[in-house]
Amino acid sequence: MGESMRGSRLGTTSYEVDSGEYAPRALTTYVCDQGHRITMPFSVEADEIPTTWPCACGATGMMLGAKPEAPAERKHVRTHWDMLLERRTIKDLEGILKERLEVIRAKAS
Ligand SMILES: [Zn+2]
Repeated sequence: MGESMRGSRLGTTSYEVDSGEYAPRALTTYVCDQGHRITMPFSVEADEIPTTWPCACGATGMMLGAKPEAPAERKHVRTHWDMLLERRTIKDLEGILKERLEVIRAKAS
């Protein structure tokens, strides 16, 4: 029996809120050398989430998808809008918009 269950078996159900009602929680999964998975719900407000967690089999689980330090600045990601502007000018787009609106209006009437 886990320690956290001590004294909570009887009486109220007030201890049974473990689905993240208090604080948002993120599930962190660890995988040990033996391939066992351990999933721990850590509060997202936790200062530091451990990158390893002891597995029940005695091995050390490594955080799944542990990310190396995020690069200080991500490469600028081109949006559809950026790509569009590389091919068309605003003036072009206005013309296309007008055209399309006319098509739509013609269909609507
Ligand atoms: Zn294990």
